[in-house]
Amino acid sequence: MDLGDDLSTRVDALMDGLVADLKRLTAIPSVAFPGFPPEPVREAHDLLVDLLRGAGVERVERLDLPDTAPVVVAEVPPPAPGAPTVLLYGHYDVQPPGDEALWFSPPFEPTPVEGGLRARGIADDKANIIVHLGVLRAFAGRPPVGLKIVLEGQEEYGSAFDDYPPTDPDRFACDAMVIADMGNLRPGSPTLTTGLQDPREARDLLVTHLESLRPFGIPLTVTPGDTGPGYEPATDGPAYRAARTALREGWGSEPAFVASGGSIPLVNGLAEAVPGAEVLLFGAQDGMCNLHAPNERVLFSELRSAVIAEAAFLREYAKTYGDSATHADSAGARHE
Ligand SMILES: [Zn+2]
Repeated sequence: MDLGDDLSTRVDALMDGLVADLKRLTAIPSVAFPGFPPEPVREAHDLLVDLLRGAGVERVERLDLPDTAPVVVAEVPPPAPGAPTVLLYGHYDVQPPGDEALWFSPPFEPTPVEGGLRARGIADDKANIIVHLGVLRAFAGRPPVGLKIVLEGQEEYGSAFDDYPPTDPDRFACDAMVIADMGNLRPGSPTLTTGLQDPREARDLLVTHLESLRPFGIPLTVTPGDTGPGYEPATDGPAYRAARTALREGWGSEPAFVASGGSIPLVNGLAEAVPGAEVLLFGAQDGMCNLHAPNERVLFSELRSAVIAEAAFLREYAKTYGDSATHADSAGARHE
């Protein structure tokens, strides 16, 4: 279905329902760390399966691996032969709330703040899952591309799923991926994260710097902690071109390209499983959303813009993928 110019109007009409579902999802304390009960994690999983089915997705599977929360793997077949397939990623587990005395409201009671809502896990990463849901609803369950939706439930603690995709590459085969565990540097400033810096390099530079300071001549021993692997996607393919247009449509200005100090271990697993796919990192978070900290929040304006941008991306990508004479070379692992 072609959304054309009425995309933002359509998303506006969806916002109340999306916010209501975001509240339901963030009221579930889905912490997948040892010592926390597993039932809420499964409850969040089950709610997402219901929401996906309700949004018109017929193929919703549950992937169970040892020592992991269940992974939701859903699929919408391409609308026509030759249409590209896009994988949409998110995670439904959240960080533990930490010291609840530091919160202005109970972490699992979504509470209004100016222009948004406060709750643990609302930015990282439940709002981004709601973005995927909003896109499905905007297209009435019939997007212009094939979709594979992967929602995992143990990202924050780490799980065997990080290494799983290369062992089952067909399941993840796609032309482009949107890793929606990200957001903008500042609210209102569209940002494409084009590198998860190698934290090892940054860490080693910091250690060298600290050791060279030796304030007042005091000897200092720095013990480096663990780091995750870095990642740097190629940014010159048709999906990136479509994403630039789409983020401009979502936020009304030209997107910035930035590298982030964080790492998402699964991204490397997915990139290894599907080496030809373009990897895009954007979403509804922003640099002031208190990710992993007390009083985490998300802004409705960011949520709305992210839904418009992701839907516009699918529309633009479907259009330009067909036009592109070079797509067969740039997307080696594309869906057959
Ligand atoms: Zn996250």
